[in-house]
Amino acid sequence: MTRGDNKLKAQVRALQQLYDLPYAEALRRVQTPRHWQLTPDVEALFAGHGIRGIDLSAPQADLRFWLDCVRTPTGACEICGGPVDARDEPAAIAFEISSYDPDANPRTNVLGTHLRHPACGPSEVRWMIAAILPGDPSEFELCDPDDPDQDDPASADGELYAHPLLTRELDGAVGEWFTGPEPVLCLEARIVNPADGAPGWLSLLGDSWREEDLGDLEETVGTCTWSVRIVTGFPLATGKTNLLFVREDTDEDGEATGHVYRAARDLPTAWLDAARAATRVLVVCGPLPVHDEEPEPWNPADGQTSIETMLREGRALAAYVPIVVEEYQEWPPDQAA
Ligand SMILES: [Zn+2]
Repeated sequence: MTRGDNKLKAQVRALQQLYDLPYAEALRRVQTPRHWQLTPDVEALFAGHGIRGIDLSAPQADLRFWLDCVRTPTGACEICGGPVDARDEPAAIAFEISSYDPDANPRTNVLGTHLRHPACGPSEVRWMIAAILPGDPSEFELCDPDDPDQDDPASADGELYAHPLLTRELDGAVGEWFTGPEPVLCLEARIVNPADGAPGWLSLLGDSWREEDLGDLEETVGTCTWSVRIVTGFPLATGKTNLLFVREDTDEDGEATGHVYRAARDLPTAWLDAARAATRVLVVCGPLPVHDEEPEPWNPADGQTSIETMLREGRALAAYVPIVVEEYQEWPPDQAA
């Protein structure tokens, strides 16, 4: 038995398992040659260049196998519109792949492919911006950990509004505690559903923040695993924006294990400058109910209720966490200009 026989058998088996095909049909597909004219950048993609978050050893992730045995070999040329049949004639193909970002898109995906006549245009890889992040606020869901029905516990929907502030903008808050124009990120929670259950749910939210080691005024430098990552100059069809992520924790590959907040949004230039110069940012979360009463509406930017007062009275929790501000980089990073 030759190596080619083994490969053929493995491909037939993979096709049968992945797409539930009869043996004869799978064999026919594997044995029908296709005449792809590929380019070095497509070959590099097949070898894993720029691919992140995907196990390339799995048959369903093998793009060469997919191209030879799975993809429909016929279609319209994306340039001239005429028919292409890769079984009968040389054919080129353009891959659209989503660009990697550790927060916005930790798993690169094939977004689409387009057939071409080689005379119309060569095979190519197009790296696409796939991160469609919502703007502020960021939504969250809370479940009641004490609900006896743990299969379907009571839950609430909420919104987190991020307010980037500089300490010098916080009227009444600049005391001994603050030493300069430091960046502060206030996360203002609102419970939107159920409409009448805010105190109880905000109280639960406060419990979850305490479990993450957010604390009061004296405890702001603790063991909270949160961190803030900002990407500036992120390209959208409508212009450039910033991505703001508050991560729950970061794994050894530098990727977030979850997000407290994620949104595409504008950020004030002065705040970004302060954030670039800083290694840490004070994240303040609130408002929390005191004595089960509906908390006062909290707009950290209005200066009416200082952050210091909120923390002192237990109506907010805070932690100093690492912050990094990065300029948007094209993906993959070593792509030729
Ligand atoms: Zn064509």
